[in-house]
Formats: sequence, C-alpha cells, structure tokens
Amino acid sequence: MEHPFLDLNLGEFSWCLHCERVHKTASWQAKDWECPACGAGALDVRPWEEVRGLVEGYPERPEEGKYYLQYPGESAQAAGA
Ligand SMILES: [Zn+2]
Repeated sequence: MEHPFLDLNLGEFSWCLHCERVHKTASWQAKDWECPACGAGALDVRPWEEVRGLVEGYPERPEEGKYYLQYPGESAQAAGA
C-alpha cells in the first residue's frame, strides 16, 4: 500500500514511530492515516519491514497492537560495552 504523501511502499503491517506499536496498514488507512493506537499522524508511520530490518528476531508477521521497540535493550548494551 502506498503512503498518502511520502514515497513509501507500506506492506501489510505498519509501525508507529510515536508509540512503537504495529497495526495493519489498512487500519491506518481506515483512520485517515492516524495511528490506531495513539493518534499520531501519517509522518509517524513506517513500514514494518523497515523496523524488522533493524532489530534481529522480529517476526515476519507481527502481532497487531503489540509494542516493538526500535532499540530494545539499548541501555543494557551501553552498560555492557
Ligand atoms: Zn502510535
């Protein structure tokens, strides 16, 4: 699915940069491109595939409404370095 104004090809799932939760892209579209969970705007939508590429172990099909942090365990890594 195409983003309404950014040059982004969104897949079946989209991730919210604001609340870091995942919803179906169709749910974003149904809300006129507001996050179904927190109401953030279309600028905060990211393709799930992009987030998945950043974090090892994230599934191909995420659970809707679940939190998927962009930097899980960041503080632990910093402490262990
Ligand atoms: Zn959100």
